[in-house]
Amino acid sequence: MTDWIVLIRDHHPGYLTWAQYERNQAVLSATAASRGEDRTAGPAREGCALLQGVVICGRCGRRMSVGYHTLADRTRVPAYHCQRAGIQNARPACQAITSAGIDAAISALICDTLTPLALQTAMAVTAELAADARKADTVRAAHVQRAQNAADTAGRRYLAVDPANRLVAGNLEADWNTRLRELAQARDDYARARDADAALDEQQQARVLALAEDFPALWNDPATPMRERKRLLRLLITDVTLTRADDGATRCQIRFTGGQHHTLTLPRPLTAAEQHTTAPATIELIDQLLNDHPFDKIATILNSRGITGGWGRAFTVQNLAALCHARGLSTHASRLRSAGMLTVGEIAADLKVTPQTIGRWRRRGLITGRRTDGRGECLFHPGQQRPGPAEQTAARRPAGTQHLLTSRQLAASLGVTASTILRWTQLGLVTIAATGNHGFNLYQPSQPHPTRDQITAACRPPGTADAITGGQLAARHGVSRSAVYKWHQLGLIRSLGTDGTGRNLYLPGQRPPSPEQIRTARAARHHGPGNCQTPMPLSVPQGTTHPIATPGIGSSA
Ligand SMILES: [Zn+2]
Repeated sequence: MTDWIVLIRDHHPGYLTWAQYERNQAVLSATAASRGEDRTAGPAREGCALLQGVVICGRCGRRMSVGYHTLADRTRVPAYHCQRAGIQNARPACQAITSAGIDAAISALICDTLTPLALQTAMAVTAELAADARKADTVRAAHVQRAQNAADTAGRRYLAVDPANRLVAGNLEADWNTRLRELAQARDDYARARDADAALDEQQQARVLALAEDFPALWNDPATPMRERKRLLRLLITDVTLTRADDGATRCQIRFTGGQHHTLTLPRPLTAAEQHTTAPATIELIDQLLNDHPFDKIATILNSRGITGGWGRAFTVQNLAALCHARGLSTHASRLRSAGMLTVGEIAADLKVTPQTIGRWRRRGLITGRRTDGRGECLFHPGQQRPGPAEQTAARRPAGTQHLLTSRQLAASLGVTASTILRWTQLGLVTIAATGNHGFNLYQPSQPHPTRDQITAACRPPGTADAITGGQLAARHGVSRSAVYKWHQLGLIRSLGTDGTGRNLYLPGQRPPSPEQIRTARAARHHGPGNCQTPMPLSVPQGTTHPIATPGIGSSA
């Protein structure tokens, strides 16, 4: 276009407007690689490097390209490379800078810059400039008016001159032409200045402010394509110049489209090893905790405080052990050993018992030791004495149960056998006060001997407390116990059930059968054995009787 001799805009109707044509040309020259290599900006592409196409090397001034490397977790990390000159001249690359910190810093800068407050301030300044522009407009309008007056005057002079006086007429015509040219120039200037001063109307201002409010959400939305984000960036930023300093820090010089500059200095990004190294303060804390705790306890303490390792994971016994091994920290056990504590084998040899006995004594609190791992391994304090028999006996029981009696001791005090005490316990006649360390029962020493009635009631099914046995029924009616047994066998009297010893129980008011009934029943049984019916016990629910032998109880049956 610079080589064109003549340009007459809108001379004839075109396929597109002149303004649209100019916009298309600008987009083409900004994005097409065919327009030369040395463009200041490249087209926005799909990759995740935010500054792709607008980043310039601060050392040599060439545009930097984008390269990617893939991490172990398959995330792609972009980096900005200045290597074109190196490739062309077979030299080392100029510089390469990872984009991670830079992209984040530029995103934050843009979101901070494009706040509603900043835009309101900018619009207030614009409004002031518009007020100044209105004053300037008055001056420019006066200038146009003066040019108009001068042209009018020159025109009148020319028209008033005698045409015979050709020289004068020629001069006046030239003067009129000059005045008309000046008037056209003044009108052009006025129109141009007026266009340039056009201020935003209220609707436009509201739209700009709404955009500023929506901008961070749009920018940070993962659904926004990277290409659109880069196009947004290009509306705000012309280019970014990156320079790596000797200490590894990166200097980013950002040129905004408005012409302002901003410089960011970013510290050297951490290497992978540095990122995943456990913090020195954590190592120091672990070192202190190892004096008093094994690994499992330390892992619990660190996790409860929310302290993590270099990879951001919770501590376990395994990773703590590996960490301490790598950092040369001695374990809790080796610290206790160097403080003179004894292994189970050493203290067993000292006290002349087996290691199993040492373990039992430690569980009962007869000797003291320190746990060194989560599996119950212990080290023992040196100089401990062998516990005496009384101590060992006392230690078998839980604290506060030393005054209680065992079943054997209670049996001796009540004058019965230990198995009777066991049966009384099952019948609920004596109550257990506590349970010893090995599961044996302990009883109160003031336990009374249960009365005969209590024992009888406990042995019988519920609701049969005043029932009588077969022996008692026989004595009442002056017959033998076998006769009562026969009556029961023949179904002539009904049993209420059996007591704990298996004896049948009968109603106290049970009537004896008449001799006629007995004969009939015997005849029926003799002639039809299949008709014999032994009545089932009445009102005895399943599982409520305890057929327990009762030695030691006087039987009246
Ligand atoms: Zn370079």
